[in-house]
Amino acid sequence: MGVVLDGKAIAERIKQELQQELLKLKGTPHLRLLYFDRPPSLLFKHVQENAAHELGIEIGGSPAFLSEENSRCCDWDRVQPEDVDRIIQRWNQDPRVHGIFVHQPLPHQLDAQRISTLIDPRKDVEGIHPQNSARRFFAKARIGSCTALAVMELIEATGVDLEGKDAVVIGHSEIVGRPVSMLLLDKLATTTICHVGTDKAGRLEDHVRRAEILVVAVGRPQFIKGAWIKPGAIVIDVGINVVSGCVVGDVEFEEASRRAAFISPVPGGVGPVTVMMVMKNTVEAFKLQQQGKFQ
Ligand code: NAP
Repeated sequence: MGVVLDGKAIAERIKQELQQELLKLKGTPHLRLLYFDRPPSLLFKHVQENAAHELGIEIGGSPAFLSEENSRCCDWDRVQPEDVDRIIQRWNQDPRVHGIFVHQPLPHQLDAQRISTLIDPRKDVEGIHPQNSARRFFAKARIGSCTALAVMELIEATGVDLEGKDAVVIGHSEIVGRPVSMLLLDKLATTTICHVGTDKAGRLEDHVRRAEILVVAVGRPQFIKGAWIKPGAIVIDVGINVVSGCVVGDVEFEEASRRAAFISPVPGGVGPVTVMMVMKNTVEAFKLQQQGKFQ
């Protein structure tokens, strides 16, 4: 049985480091959320608020959803792209706001790429603005993709040196798969990115079977079979899927955990660390803005 990586414990350690850092700051970082009236968004908002409150980061009063001063809740079907633009522009221009986070997935009428370019890159605490993506490309990002950074925290917790290891990332989304792949490359892992084309070609199992580091971010319950896992691998499951009221990942956990040396569970793996990385990015954004610098 492999070691189950405890995301809550890692998140707690990052929280304690952040608390020390916040004591040294002159002022309070302010984070603004744009979220939707869907259960995953409302749940994520709740955990983000709890983390912010524990740290003393300002995040907006939740009952006053529609107050312009606070976080915004948008109706999934009726939200208009121009309303989202207006909210983001206002937060961009407000010097009291240091971080902006737009929940995903987005309703179909909103364009994720357009939204990523609208957010002031200095306030982009999810690391999705093209300027932040470009800095990641050159390994120079101070505000990185929070989920990708969380994946790396879990991998680093294993203590395994990644140089020369075969890393396989399944999923190439802009917010998870691609940034994770860049961060693995920075560690000199030999990195392969798999996607729907790999699956159509019937090659997914082959790639998973040779992965020493496997990161799965697809969003399909138990899509990766436990029997495919290379013995001794590190398995990081980013997926969040709800099946019969239970949250499960993209990897068949029981079988995979018998083969892996380290495995992250769902829930309790990447999720809690991602929340803390949003807080860390908010503190970083605050510091950069106080210093009048950008990265
Ligand atoms: P996404 O934007 O839907 O991307 C999914 C990726 O999976 C795409 O690159 C897609 O490739 C690929 N894919 C789809 N079907 C595939 C197949 N049959 N074989 C191989 N690849 C396939 O989702 P995401 O935002 O990256 O999120 C992925 C999962 O992680 C979701 O469950 C999400 O809820 C979860 N998530 C968790 C956290 C956390 O903190 N724990 C944070 C973010 C996301 P194509 O584009 O080629 O179809």
